[in-house]
Amino acid sequence: MNFKNPIYDDITYLKGVGPKRAEELKKYGINFIVDVLHHLPRKYLDRRNIKKINQCKIGEETVIIGKIISKNIKVIGKRRLFQLTIGDATGELQCVWFNALSWIIDKFNINEQLAVYGKIEFFNGLKITHPDFDILDDNEDNFNTGQIISLYASTSDLKSKGLDSKGFRKIIKNILFNEKYIIEDFLSNEMISEENLCSLKEALTKIHFPNDNDEIKKALYRLKYNEHFFIQLLMALKKHHIKKDDGIAFPKRGDYLKQIYESLNFTLTDAQIRVLREIRSDLKSKSPMNRLVQGDVGSGKTIVAILTASIIIAEEYQVALMAPTEILAEQHFDSFKEYCEAANITCAVLTSNKPQKEKNIILNQLKSGEIQFIVGTHALIQGKVAFNNLGLIIIDEQHRFGVEHRKLLVDKGLNPEVLAMTATPIPRTLSITLHGDMDISIIDELPKNRIPIKTEVITPSKIKSAYQKIKNEIKAGGQCFIVYPLIEESEKLDLEAAESGYKKLQKVFNEFQLGYINGKMKKKEIDKQMQLMVDGKIDCLITTTVIEVGINISNATIMLIENAERFGMTQLHQLRGRIGRGTKQSTCIMVQHKKTENSNKRLKIMESTLDGFIISDEDLKMRGPGDFFGTKQHGFIKSKVVDFNADGPIIRRARYQAFKMIDDDSLLKNIKNQKIKKLFKMNYKHMLEFVKIG
Ligand code: ADP
Ligand code: MG
Repeated sequence: MNFKNPIYDDITYLKGVGPKRAEELKKYGINFIVDVLHHLPRKYLDRRNIKKINQCKIGEETVIIGKIISKNIKVIGKRRLFQLTIGDATGELQCVWFNALSWIIDKFNINEQLAVYGKIEFFNGLKITHPDFDILDDNEDNFNTGQIISLYASTSDLKSKGLDSKGFRKIIKNILFNEKYIIEDFLSNEMISEENLCSLKEALTKIHFPNDNDEIKKALYRLKYNEHFFIQLLMALKKHHIKKDDGIAFPKRGDYLKQIYESLNFTLTDAQIRVLREIRSDLKSKSPMNRLVQGDVGSGKTIVAILTASIIIAEEYQVALMAPTEILAEQHFDSFKEYCEAANITCAVLTSNKPQKEKNIILNQLKSGEIQFIVGTHALIQGKVAFNNLGLIIIDEQHRFGVEHRKLLVDKGLNPEVLAMTATPIPRTLSITLHGDMDISIIDELPKNRIPIKTEVITPSKIKSAYQKIKNEIKAGGQCFIVYPLIEESEKLDLEAAESGYKKLQKVFNEFQLGYINGKMKKKEIDKQMQLMVDGKIDCLITTTVIEVGINISNATIMLIENAERFGMTQLHQLRGRIGRGTKQSTCIMVQHKKTENSNKRLKIMESTLDGFIISDEDLKMRGPGDFFGTKQHGFIKSKVVDFNADGPIIRRARYQAFKMIDDDSLLKNIKNQKIKKLFKMNYKHMLEFVKIG
């Protein structure tokens, strides 16, 4: 890639962009000339199909061109209503803006020709509310009429510096049709034809100046492909980096597996068996396993982990399981102990709060190989911890750990097998994007003996009878969670609400033992209360969203979620998964305080299904990937063009090509891949740790 190409110059070098305008553009991430081309249209105005005003049909989306006849502002109460009348040879039409800002008012001049687009209404005459518009220039070239016109997100800031849609079109045209700016393609001709893509130049031209919808589609496909290709390239590099041929092969099932399997008082689900098969085929090969098992809460990931561990231990290698919190580590240990006893496997738990003496014993036994199976927290990755021969690491709730944690543990063995587990069901397209460096197995089936949780959405007026239900449940031996929202933006208010909720509930439930935790309390205090809940010493735990994922309280049969409309669906699903883990019928009551179309829809879905994958799909559709995980965690997908709901086929193609490329040329050394490497290093700098390319 030739960076001397003036297209990579600072935006101030572009004709029509002075220092002031450049400053505005930089706020929108437009720093270099090439960035303007990637500022994509927000919408298109289809001027090929213009109607005369007397042909307009009410309710139809229509484009009309007319001359501005009059404009005025009407003040109604606190609202400013801006009215603009346009006319053509056949009639008049009014355009209306509510709460009109001054920029819009100043924009229009009488007698100017204007194209407007919107839904035709009828109220004292024909009307469009908040139309899209495009002012026609007398001397604007024909480029612009009778075609599809691109409209750009232009804030009032941009407008004040005079860069509206028309301004954007102009400067974009300056780049596209100026020969000194070269739009070089970074994909090879071979790949372009194999993938049936258009060239980058064509994509960038047509996305801004399309002749028809097919051209827009084709251009968009190429631009999406670019983004997914680089994400997948990153995954391919990471995966390649992990994959080595000098791991250990575990071809045999071994006796332990048989013993544990025979001790089970249930039969494995088909999904569990399928996943175990996938794991076994990894273990048989010499290159280390790197697999993520995704399965909803209660789908039975633990037994899959134990059976996997037993294969490794039978070959006299050690296994370490790392959990994100002490409570989870202890819980895992408790359930493992039983199985390990059935097979005479020595297991232990290592957390940082253990007395030093005890820790030292464990450390010694780990080193000597006496302990075959160790469960622990971050304590496992401390420098002092050494293994005799670590063959497998299992990471529970893997999204709670950073890459570096995992690496520290992996480095304690010699290319050990890695099995990660997560209870967060995420849509397949997202999962091959975010965990694309791992192989993925999905347990998409719950054990048959489960009694489905009942979910009820109620309004606050029904709260009394909900409390009564809780009381009945506790009296019958159950335990309860009452959850309050706590989000960063409104943290202070939320804490107050939880606090006063707790005070109120102390009165309502004065005959019972209550506990209270919130996300701002010290970890120690939270853990203590959680432990009391686990031990059954608390009847009802009032809490913000800190209850651990994966915690197992089989007595907890009822949960009430306050302001359920404020939670995302995935979060509600995770919360709800805290109950219904025993053999009794459980109930989740969601209290909806505010009704909006969106929250009604979300809560309806929560009522209608317990399937985490359906919920996460819907969640992704409604919120987008940024919000799905919280933007902080996965800020690397900043793109406006990628859409994980719709891009499945593109992602799969891009993944195929990216993995093929790294298979052939793992360090991107090949001359033909240099352009890609350069762009990749430039755009994904922040993600290149743990990935080696020259
Ligand atoms: P999670 O996937 O949330 O970690 P667990 O592994 O803790 O789920 O399993 C939840 C419960 O279901 C445990 O008590 C476990 O013994 C039980 N279980 C696991 N698999 C089955 C099965 N196939 N049939 C019946 N019960 C099962
Ligand atoms: Mg679990």
